Amino acid sequence: MSFDVDLFVIGGGSGGVRAARMAAATGAKVALAEDSRLGGTCVIRGCVPKKLMVYASAFREMPGEARAYGWDIADGRFDWPSFRKTLHGELDRLEGIYRRLLEGSGVMIHDQRAHLVAAHRVALADGTEVSAKHILLATGGRPERPEMRHAELGIVSDDVFLMETLPKSMLIVGGGFIACEMACILNGLGVAVTQFYRGAQILRGFDDEARGLVAEAMKAKGIDLHVGTNILEMGPADQVMWQGAVGDNMADAAPEPAAPLPRGPVRVKASNGTERVFDAVLFATGRAPNSRNLGLEDLGVQIGRRGEVVVDAYSQTAVPSIFAVGDLTNRVNLTPVAIREGMAFVRTVFEGVPTPVDHDLIPSAVFTQPELGTVGLTEEQARDLEPIEVYATSFKPMRSAFAGSSDRVLMKLVVSQATRRVLGCHIVAPDAGEMIQLAAIAVKMGATKEDFDRTVAVHPTMAEELVTMRAPVRKA
Ligand code: NDP
Repeated sequence: MSFDVDLFVIGGGSGGVRAARMAAATGAKVALAEDSRLGGTCVIRGCVPKKLMVYASAFREMPGEARAYGWDIADGRFDWPSFRKTLHGELDRLEGIYRRLLEGSGVMIHDQRAHLVAAHRVALADGTEVSAKHILLATGGRPERPEMRHAELGIVSDDVFLMETLPKSMLIVGGGFIACEMACILNGLGVAVTQFYRGAQILRGFDDEARGLVAEAMKAKGIDLHVGTNILEMGPADQVMWQGAVGDNMADAAPEPAAPLPRGPVRVKASNGTERVFDAVLFATGRAPNSRNLGLEDLGVQIGRRGEVVVDAYSQTAVPSIFAVGDLTNRVNLTPVAIREGMAFVRTVFEGVPTPVDHDLIPSAVFTQPELGTVGLTEEQARDLEPIEVYATSFKPMRSAFAGSSDRVLMKLVVSQATRRVLGCHIVAPDAGEMIQLAAIAVKMGATKEDFDRTVAVHPTMAEELVTMRAPVRKA
């Protein structure tokens, strides 16, 4: 049976683009459809603009620090419209690179929505149908708002990069990666940030000691963090919705689709009994896989409870010709993982080498201020599995301590008593993301505590503590 293409990729984000390019490099005929912008969440409305905003926000503390180091320098003023213009110029440039890379690889790009009509057939929005030997779904995920009356008045992370003005005050709801990163960024840019997290401590799933230190630092930098707190009700600031002043129809208060961002001011009644008006509310309450309207269920592709496409270790769905990678599969929702899944798919299907995706010991960083870098098991996870030793030190780093700051960092190793292997490494510090990338190589290689010990320190650095901690702080 002959097909129009060997591979049709739906979704032009990190996973889809990498798979399309690599498959094309094997000589396969490849097409890709994307109805938004090439580059996907990571490049257009995620990691890249977020990291540039992290850099922008970090400058706030620099004049003060520079003065302590003898510089005659005054505090400045942040100009959001100017930064936003440069930011979007950069995103346009990156999108152009993605397009050129695909075109240069010989991938046929369709700038429109696509859905499946059969196990080997894709329909495009313009009515064209393309037959494909293999189909790769890489449609990613989208931010979700909680189901709550007037939730549409809140913005989501996609909207942050598009805001026309920076609000003076913002409520951020959630305690995960996005909520904490955005809280630090916007606080750094001069927004008065309040954060509500419904649980007992932010960053659930990370090492408890590390979470505690990040939370303390966030509060010390001015974020008004309330744990055990959620929104009870919300509405437009000029209406007291929960007293029934306005009709019950949610649409009453819905902003026009083109309403300028952010969509405040919003009146919020919180579970801690407070009632306040915020210029903006940001929901960072999780993301859902983009599996809707792809025609999957009719074909027998299995969809999980959270809307994820269910795949095996080779990213293959229940329909043999259809594969899926990235956030759509809700395995480990990180760009480098989606890229690896895309590469493993190409190796398996187009290079004939069955390659399962290795999801073990994936390092990651939360770009809060300070950053949290982590790889492996948390102390809490490890001690439930086997007897462990914990090596940890928290101290004021040289650079900020000299400038009179009370900021602290944390270096922590979780070690197996039986094998001496380092099971987990957790770093809270400026540039922890950079440090954990390197520590992760050792942990992935199975390094023992003694391997760390016999490595000579690089002095004076913060990370040298990772190889100089002699005695465990506790055993469990
Ligand atoms: P997360 O799942 O990390 O966090 C969602 C947060 O919202 C949790 O704190 C959750 O609370 C809370 N929440 C969920 N539903 C509600 C609700 N109805 N009311 C109040 N709070 C609620 O999702 P994110 O959106 O922050 O990030 C999504 C994923 O994107 C991450 O898991 C990560 O994989 C990826 N990412 C990675 C980054 C990086 O590598 N630096 C940066 C940004 C995103 P609870 O804990 O109680 O469930």
